[in-house]
Amino acid sequence: MSVRESAHRVVAIDGPAASGKSSVARALARQIGFEYVNSGAMYRAVTWHVLEKKVPPGDGVAIAQLLDAARIDCTLDGDGSRILIDGVDPTLHLRDDRVNEEVSLVSSVPRVREILVEKMRGFARAHDIVMEGRDIGSVVFPETPYKFYIDASPEVRLRRRQAQGQRDQIAARDRADSSRRASPLIIAEDAHVIDSSNLTIEGVVGEIVGRLKMKGMEIR
Ligand code: C5P
Repeated sequence: MSVRESAHRVVAIDGPAASGKSSVARALARQIGFEYVNSGAMYRAVTWHVLEKKVPPGDGVAIAQLLDAARIDCTLDGDGSRILIDGVDPTLHLRDDRVNEEVSLVSSVPRVREILVEKMRGFARAHDIVMEGRDIGSVVFPETPYKFYIDASPEVRLRRRQAQGQRDQIAARDRADSSRRASPLIIAEDAHVIDSSNLTIEGVVGEIVGRLKMKGMEIR
């Protein structure tokens, strides 16, 4: 499916860990009246399921089998996306240390990406969406004209995570996410890059809205 076929609009926001993209994507979606989808939460949910089922996070074959046998339901609840796996909602566990530690490895399994990308495209069949992640502009919705890449200096990103009280090896995750073979984190050729190190959330959202208008998007 392409964005053109779907007739729904997609704003793609990619960037490394703790770049501020979740806060920006959520605030932007609210401001322009689009649904907000956090694709990282989907990879985290699947990682949690893999760990719960005691499947080794490095065993791609077993992970693919586990997920092919699972029922994965993705819905929107007005303030983001939800994912239920075999009827269980792992929302409260998405930021667990063990999920932070293994999510990059599980996300590198091609079948995991195939399954979740299909779900992501499903959201855009029915809604205008703001979706954040690592490969949204490059792989999931390459045809959308609305692509942004949000970055921040490593020091600022580390400080943001610490302020959230999380133990998260963001440098290691970024290395893994950027070097994997399947859909690595890259800056899409036609993405507009914003360095959020010295900007507020409102500042970044303002810049994006300005750019969307410049590109002809009608914003209510
Ligand atoms: O965005 P967040 O940091 O919560 O994402 C968690 C992990 O999920 C990333 O480190 C990455 O391994 C994976 N991810 C991905 N592709 C996306 C979004 C997230 O591989 N589009």
